Amino acid sequence: MRVDAEELDHERIQSEIVVVGAGPGGISTALEFARQGHDVVLIESGGMGVSETIQQLGNASHFDEARHAPMQDCTRRQMGGASVIWGGRCLPYDPIDFEQRPYIPFSDWPVAFDEVTPYFERTCDYFRCGRAVFNLHGFDDILQDSIVPGLPDGDVLSSDLERWSLPTNFGREYRVELDNHPRIRVLTSLTCTAIELDGSGTRVRGLTCRTSNAGREIEVVGRVYVVACGGVDTTRLLLASNRVEANGIGNHSDQLGRYYMGHISGRIARVRFSTDPRKTVYGFDRDRDTTYVRRRLTFSAEFQRQEQLSNIAGLLVNPEIANPDHGNGVLSFAYLALASPAGRFFIADAIRQEAIKSSKASSSIPHFRNMLFDLPRTLHFIPTFGYKRFIARRKVPAFFQYTPSNIYLLHYHGEQIPDPASRIRLGQERDALGMRRVDIDFRYSQQDVDSVIRAHRHWNDYLEDHGVGQLEYLTENLEESVWNQAKDGFHQVGTTRMSEDPAHGVVDRNCKVHGIDDLFIASSSNFVTSGQANSTFMIVAFALKMVEHIRTQVLKG
Ligand SMILES: Cc1cc2nc3c(=O)[nH]c(=O)nc-3n(C[C@H](O)[C@H](O)[C@H](O)COP(=O)(O)OP(=O)(O)OC[C@H]3O[C@@H](n4cnc5c(N)ncnc54)[C@H](O)[C@@H]3O)c2cc1C
Repeated sequence: MRVDAEELDHERIQSEIVVVGAGPGGISTALEFARQGHDVVLIESGGMGVSETIQQLGNASHFDEARHAPMQDCTRRQMGGASVIWGGRCLPYDPIDFEQRPYIPFSDWPVAFDEVTPYFERTCDYFRCGRAVFNLHGFDDILQDSIVPGLPDGDVLSSDLERWSLPTNFGREYRVELDNHPRIRVLTSLTCTAIELDGSGTRVRGLTCRTSNAGREIEVVGRVYVVACGGVDTTRLLLASNRVEANGIGNHSDQLGRYYMGHISGRIARVRFSTDPRKTVYGFDRDRDTTYVRRRLTFSAEFQRQEQLSNIAGLLVNPEIANPDHGNGVLSFAYLALASPAGRFFIADAIRQEAIKSSKASSSIPHFRNMLFDLPRTLHFIPTFGYKRFIARRKVPAFFQYTPSNIYLLHYHGEQIPDPASRIRLGQERDALGMRRVDIDFRYSQQDVDSVIRAHRHWNDYLEDHGVGQLEYLTENLEESVWNQAKDGFHQVGTTRMSEDPAHGVVDRNCKVHGIDDLFIASSSNFVTSGQANSTFMIVAFALKMVEHIRTQVLKG
């Protein structure tokens, strides 16, 4: 059952399980509990569609636009959360991410990789991204086992894969089940403004919520509470819940809000392969269940340890579409379509803005010229890609263009070093419901930047050593270029970090807030390091693990 909270006629809601936030983390948590026979209330600040007024509840008061995207680009206050606008790239963390690496400060996870892997298959089901195989060695039907012929796996691997979901909008994909499941009540337009502790400070007494438009107060009580509001908003809710604990819930050791990470990403080089251009795997492969999968250049765990490199992946991508020098009609068409006023209807605005960014000023005329000279290919592309991208249920995530010159831009996506000074705090400004907004002080470190540059040198050496190509840098000042591109906010990691010892974190190995018996967090904010992988797959994997723990250990009595 789904109810708009503005229409509720009572002021108190009760359930066995209370889940706050209906993004991938909250929806998978709610469904897992309900499917196993538990009664769940799922509270969502937004409704089924986007509302400007509700979206503004999530804005930050201060942040550095050069480093962090505005919150309205990073999250969606509606059923499905940010999965309404996300790209759909799915991959787990690597085993090395869970190691305590002496060269990565604060990399002390209390959980081992093997403890989460049993949940990967079911996690893939939630994302509709096929089977939990993330390396080509699990495939028997892909002909070429590396990105280009003659490039074996060694210090550099080119057999690791990312998988792509539909992309799965959790609000839409699970709407029918959420609406009809006899054990689930979804309350939309209801914002949790505070978690209230009992006098002992060890249990939750209830949640103070307000209807998102009218601001009417509703109390929600349960036996177990799970907060799944996204990384920043989860942290904000804990910080703002300060009636019993003056510094916020889970902030017993001043760790709440610290270690804010995402990823360091950008482009400083292109790869010029010297192999047969027709054999370069520059685009997607498809798994036997039709899931799109994509290869990447990564480093082996041994090599990362030996070179003290942070974890990073490199992907072959198209040249800058905004720069007409590429001479490609399809790329010019894509640029004109995305740069037009209709462009925001094709992809999330943040992704669109990134795609049309240009290092070189240019008018539209050379793009029209490219299309004219490349007319047959452009005309063929428009309906075929249009169908695959907008009509097919499994949508092609992007398009990649073959280049006879065998040159591809290299996009890097690497982990950030945990830094306690990179943090979220409560600001003085309040939202329309009276909740304090956050100030975001999101920082990259010199180690992040140096590691990106060293990774490129190692990629280059490996390609050269195997006689398959080399990197060509796009700029002479690599350091400046990496710093200029360092920006995130889409992956929100670290601010309720997991720890064995309560002195070093906010939640324990089971995602339970230290010192509070019935309060759990399902978010990437729990993650101790950010890995090279995008965060969402692991949010759901950990949520499934957490639900099993709650069912078998907390609710068993
Ligand atoms: C443009 C874009 C592209 C992305 N691409 C990828 C990708 O390809 N791969 C990937 O892994 N990740 C990607 N991400 C990140 C991904 O979307 C997030 O990691 C994921 O959605 C987080 O899931 P979540 O459930 O933790 O939080 P969210 O999806 O943010 O959901 C949180 C929910 O909680 C609700 N909420 C917040 N506060 C309250 C409150 N106080 N009371 C009640 N409800 C509340 C919100 O309205 C929201 O519905 C992308 C993000 C963006 C913005």
